[in-house]
Amino acid sequence: MSESGVPYRPSDPVDFVIVGAGAAGGVVARELATAGFRVVVLEQGPYLRAPDFRHDELAVLRLAELTNDHRRQPNSLRATDRDPRVVTPAVGYGRAVGGGTVHFTGNYWRFHEVDFIERSLVGPVAGTGFDDWPISYAELEPYYTRVEWEIGVSGLAGASPFDPPRSRPYPVPPLPIKSIGVLAERAARAMGWTAFPAPMAILSEPYRDRMACIQCGFCETFGCEMGAKSSTLVTMIPEAEATGRCEIRPDSYVRKVEVDQRGRVTGVKYFDAKRREVYQRARAVVLCANGAETPRLLLLSRSNRFPDGLANSSGMVGRHLMFNGGGLTGGRFEGRINGYRGTVDTRVIHDLYQLDPGLGFVGGGGFDFRWDTQPIGFALWGLDPKAPRWGPDFKRRLRESFTRTAYALAHTTSLPVPTNRVSLDPHLKDDWGLPAISVTWQEHPNDLRLSEYFVARAMDLLAAAGAVERWSYPAGAGGWWPQVHLLGTCRMGNDPRTSVVDRFHRAHDVPNLFIVDGSSFVTSGRGQPTMTIQALAFRAAERMGELARRGELG
Ligand SMILES: Cc1cc2nc3c(=O)[nH]c(=O)nc-3n(C[C@H](O)[C@H](O)[C@H](O)COP(=O)(O)OP(=O)(O)OC[C@H]3O[C@@H](n4cnc5c(N)ncnc54)[C@H](O)[C@@H]3O)c2cc1C
Ligand code: SF4
Repeated sequence: MSESGVPYRPSDPVDFVIVGAGAAGGVVARELATAGFRVVVLEQGPYLRAPDFRHDELAVLRLAELTNDHRRQPNSLRATDRDPRVVTPAVGYGRAVGGGTVHFTGNYWRFHEVDFIERSLVGPVAGTGFDDWPISYAELEPYYTRVEWEIGVSGLAGASPFDPPRSRPYPVPPLPIKSIGVLAERAARAMGWTAFPAPMAILSEPYRDRMACIQCGFCETFGCEMGAKSSTLVTMIPEAEATGRCEIRPDSYVRKVEVDQRGRVTGVKYFDAKRREVYQRARAVVLCANGAETPRLLLLSRSNRFPDGLANSSGMVGRHLMFNGGGLTGGRFEGRINGYRGTVDTRVIHDLYQLDPGLGFVGGGGFDFRWDTQPIGFALWGLDPKAPRWGPDFKRRLRESFTRTAYALAHTTSLPVPTNRVSLDPHLKDDWGLPAISVTWQEHPNDLRLSEYFVARAMDLLAAAGAVERWSYPAGAGGWWPQVHLLGTCRMGNDPRTSVVDRFHRAHDVPNLFIVDGSSFVTSGRGQPTMTIQALAFRAAERMGELARRGELG
């Protein structure tokens, strides 16, 4: 039954069942197992290892080898409740042990102080649930430091003049600058800005028995054959298993969290690899299934006691769905820059992280200069959208441009809008017969204008870098589907009427249920949320351990 070799039986009530072995789930599993608790982690995806990863664009990108497969787990999408639902990929995430950290890009900066208190600084925004977090940057700082040192983040402390205070430098130096990073530095200098070494969850040198990045170039959307990408697959999860108290159970698709008469969770029901239903008992349940699947699971866990879904007395489960806005721009350069080599990006620009309110919109963002495609992907979307799409001219453009193109990505704030949400589709079912994820989402006007502003600045950056041709793709989060930053759908707060979990990720309605993943975010930051997801996970696990030891799980 178990690949981890721990012989828990489903009828054994373990201390904690964790749903999802991704960014947060891996951290929580390691922390709780190390603290002496018996832990079972149920992951719907497979347990792949480094030798299983391959540079096969069709298998990885088209056949969803590492991600949720919309043919088996479809989504629907609509802009408002008045619109018909359209079946289309709406959310994308890693579906394997390690979750999104297996195939992500690894951009790993901390949120800034402003991200936690922005509502107090700029005031309310009509049509949103814009709010402060119930915790501050200072409270989270020690846990950011733990992420950097325990999973291995490369970077240079003090390189960004905008970085929030930190208690320790990075454990490993920044990755070597790539050619596109040199262009970013040139552009930033011309604009009077700073391009600083990108903090990355990728090792620049050997660390804790893991190898450094060999710059293979198949990074974003691919698994790392070297183990240099600091996924939970190669960091937290082996450490959790090494305690002898944590069982990782892959191919286990959780369909319901069960509760007793007192309203306490008793365990979860899941489908195993053979689609048999299994009931795993536990003293407490921790949902780490991400900002789309966690609210879905809560809504699927309706019962007589919780008729609107588990932990949903506020009606907030699934609401305030946030992605990250911004937009992508591309530029062609005179000479060869060979941006396809190495990691996706090595320089980031944060000069517009906190915009002057006089500009007329709330929020801010950043830029990086990047290359995040491979040959087939480049042929599909990498050229200027106005370039020929067929015939000898198309081939000539591909030949000329592959080595001469760079992209400038803007990543910006998304506001929490209550009507933007994840709910259950009333008609569409997945392969297991469960209601599919339905996304209702319309960009807030503030976010769209902000994205347009940033796309224009990204075009300025490309010009300053010397691009001879420039183009942009649609601005705003709505320009790209499926969305991969899934945030806000079980928001954290002090008031049980307006939030789902408390400041330590405990569900307001159910004392032995915890929700630790992108869903607990109150605001979206300016992109790249996973560093913060993991800092929160370290903090939440510490609290769960304290409660369990004091016999206060409920
Ligand atoms: C191509 C790409 C690039 C990205 N690059 C970056 C980046 O550079 N920086 C950054 O910060 N973020 C990046 N992200 C986003 C990042 O992957 C996510 O923010 C992060 O993984 C979310 O962490 P999580 O713990 O909330 O959930 P996940 O990591 O998604 O983990 C959730 C896990 O739960 C499992 N699960 C879900 N439902 C069930 C169920 N019912 N039963 C059992 N298991 C279940 C899933 O299979 C998954 O393994 C990227 C994402 C993508 C797709
Ligand atoms: S570029 Fe580096 S971190 Fe990324 S997959 Fe290749 S070796 Fe791993």
